Amino acid sequence: MSTTPKEMTLKGLPASGGIAMGPAYVYEREEVYVSERILTDEELERERVLLDEALQRSRHELTKIISFARQKLNEEAAAIFEAQLAMIDDPVMRSALDDRLRKEKKNADFLIYDELRKFKEILGASNDTLLRERVQDLDEVGQRIMRNLQKKRLHSTVEGEHVIIASQLTPSDTILFSRNDVLAYATDLGGITSHAAILARSLKIPAVTALQNGTAVVRTGDEVILDGQRGLLIVNPTERHRREYERKMENIARFEADLAGLGELPCETEDGHKVELSANAEFINELEYVVTQGSKGIGLYRTEHLYIEKGDFPSEQEQFIEYSEIAHMMYPQPVIFRTFDIGGDKLLDSAVAESNPFLGWRGIRMMLDKPVIFRQQLRAMLRASSMKNIKIMFPMISGVTELREVLDMLESVKEELRKEGVPFDEEMELGLMIEVPSAVFVADELAKHVSFFSIGTNDLVQYLMAVDRNNELIADLYQEFHPAVLRAIRSTIDTGHANGLWVGMCGEMAGNPLATLLLLGLGLDEFSMVPSVIPEVKKIVRSSSYKEARKVAAEALRLANALEVREYLSTYMHERFPELFATMVNGMNGHDENGGEDE
Ligand code: PEP
Ligand code: MG
Repeated sequence: MSTTPKEMTLKGLPASGGIAMGPAYVYEREEVYVSERILTDEELERERVLLDEALQRSRHELTKIISFARQKLNEEAAAIFEAQLAMIDDPVMRSALDDRLRKEKKNADFLIYDELRKFKEILGASNDTLLRERVQDLDEVGQRIMRNLQKKRLHSTVEGEHVIIASQLTPSDTILFSRNDVLAYATDLGGITSHAAILARSLKIPAVTALQNGTAVVRTGDEVILDGQRGLLIVNPTERHRREYERKMENIARFEADLAGLGELPCETEDGHKVELSANAEFINELEYVVTQGSKGIGLYRTEHLYIEKGDFPSEQEQFIEYSEIAHMMYPQPVIFRTFDIGGDKLLDSAVAESNPFLGWRGIRMMLDKPVIFRQQLRAMLRASSMKNIKIMFPMISGVTELREVLDMLESVKEELRKEGVPFDEEMELGLMIEVPSAVFVADELAKHVSFFSIGTNDLVQYLMAVDRNNELIADLYQEFHPAVLRAIRSTIDTGHANGLWVGMCGEMAGNPLATLLLLGLGLDEFSMVPSVIPEVKKIVRSSSYKEARKVAAEALRLANALEVREYLSTYMHERFPELFATMVNGMNGHDENGGEDE
């Protein structure tokens, strides 16, 4: 007699939004095991050749994955594998291996295993979750080289549509499965910032992690529903649950089709209030994607990466080439270039050790101390402005004296270019970031010298709340919905408007859909965000009225603490846009929706 299997719900962390339903496939990765051997001199020679071949093959495999990730996904996905490639090419690691081969005469796969073990111990002991999660990358690289040394093949494939259930997935597993008909991923281990989770989000494949016992409970062939929004895996669902989820999936599909059609439509409320949605970008090869997401240009182009990649300041000509290419690619849309914001956590030069880098030599402070370098950057930006679609913005301005110094320098650079007969946009708009609290209070003075403000909430929140934006221990005190933050935003916008400026925001808050109506209602003119969220934010703006947004902002401003504001916005927005919030997921856009904000 056959009995209907009993439904069981496993709870994990939501790692990538969306819902999937289908048969499970329980995947066990074939681990490569090594044993320690002492080699003869003859074997040693051959081992060196085999090691070179295995490294070469591993490099080749990773290069193929990187090119797939770059073409089909995004820079973030490609960077995961680039970091792995760098581990293979790490000269310290290579010389340690060569040394040990020579001295200890042991087999190469054992030596690799042993060297990686040391690195993993160091990373694993770190307090930083991100560093601890990188242990998995080391594991994956080690497994890849050892597999190639043992000339084994990788089998991350499965026939037909399945929900993959695994103890843990590596980034490569995630990519390789995605080439089959994978419906979703569920893993026992891993966090939402693990690379496999990041890739699942890039691939738009629903995923749940940290289920703890998924592989123990689920059998291949079991029917499952994976809810990537709520972090659930329902095994052998009842008919009622199945129907409920089918309806949700239909709604999501309809909603996504709706979003895809938004690209060309203006970002305007039902009662005709227009705002601009633009993108934050850092790399040239992101720009194609930016355009497809319906952005009206770049609201923040972070130029620091030029310095970080080179390990030194790029020349005027190198910068000119990059800035001109970006201006051309985006034309006629505007691009706001931000001058170097080096320092804080974006400093390579360990020669300058500061005990408080975020309160130290950072952004405009450093640039004013390095006039030769700053002038080169300003010259490059001005020279690239002849098509008139560039604006320049200055980070970390704390008051008028600093701003005057910056503008004097800019004026003298302009004068130099005029004398040289080099054309540039004489009417170019200038702006500054409002991210240091003092700037909020003297915004009226600052406004006399520029055309726009862009609120940098990432820093404004950390400086207003005295909470280091990178410190896990106090992450729950980093509250973008704190009344002090809301009041600072309101005051900046009002002061900007009273002085004839337009006011944008390029901190992460601008791309948090929970905050969209609030910011719209406070009168924000431009929202600059990671490009992937632009359609969601546009959908909210186009389905609301300015009147409604103003009411939401007034209500939020009435509340006494961050928790109340968040709860109010969360309830309001979920009720108002149920389908939209059903397709999003905690952490997906860097916003922890249930974030532990409390006071
Ligand atoms: C900000 O501070 O909000 C911002 C956009 O700048 P960054 O994150 O680069 O400091
Ligand atoms: Mg900043």
